[in-house]
Amino acid sequence: MIVCSICHTNNHHLAVTCSSCGGYLQTRVDTLDLFSTAWRVIERPFKAFHTIAIARHKNYVLLLSALAGLAIVFTLFWAITAARYAESTLNILIAGFVVGPLFGIVLLLFLSILIVTIARVFGFHTRMKGTFAVVAYASIPWVFIGLFIFPVEVLTFGTYLFSNNPSPYTIKPLSFIVLLILHGTFALWNLLLLLVGIRVLCDASWQKAIAIWSISIAIICGIFYGTLQLLLVAR
Ligand SMILES: [Zn+2]
Repeated sequence: MIVCSICHTNNHHLAVTCSSCGGYLQTRVDTLDLFSTAWRVIERPFKAFHTIAIARHKNYVLLLSALAGLAIVFTLFWAITAARYAESTLNILIAGFVVGPLFGIVLLLFLSILIVTIARVFGFHTRMKGTFAVVAYASIPWVFIGLFIFPVEVLTFGTYLFSNNPSPYTIKPLSFIVLLILHGTFALWNLLLLLVGIRVLCDASWQKAIAIWSISIAIICGIFYGTLQLLLVAR
């Protein structure tokens, strides 16, 4: 809650103007600059997510979702050892670049709807637009994976990256473990940023933020797992 200094009305903690008298409660930025906002998400995530949630224009949200989608899709291709289903590595790369961006936007939009819905069950009112923006900026670690880690993985393992015959681990065990730890750390960082984002959006206690966060992630993981099982059975 944020209390209006003019009329003392209680307002939502992310409100910019008072619901009663229209007085200004907090200043907000008009537009989000991609690089400085991304840097603030790394440096001071609580402040950054607050700025993002109340910014007038949520710039770069679709771009970040699309880039994160690419990295997530290629990680899924690796997890299901996509080489079993594709003619060549080039086909896997083309499929990823075609499907990834839209997949990222749909996935992060769906995750935002989940968070808004589950937060409401817990009694927190969060806006869809602000939630989607926070979720997209929280996925910056996936953008790093896509830009820096994935190219190294492709260059290191070549056609064996998506294969289990032989697996990339068999080809270069040490490189595989190092890259897997890096990849996993960045993915984990995304999940932690998401938790911070939910706490900022809801102004909730850690316990309730963790509850909303874990239920949302469990539902997404359940859908992924179910879909993969269906795809594997279908073959
Ligand atoms: Zn007021």
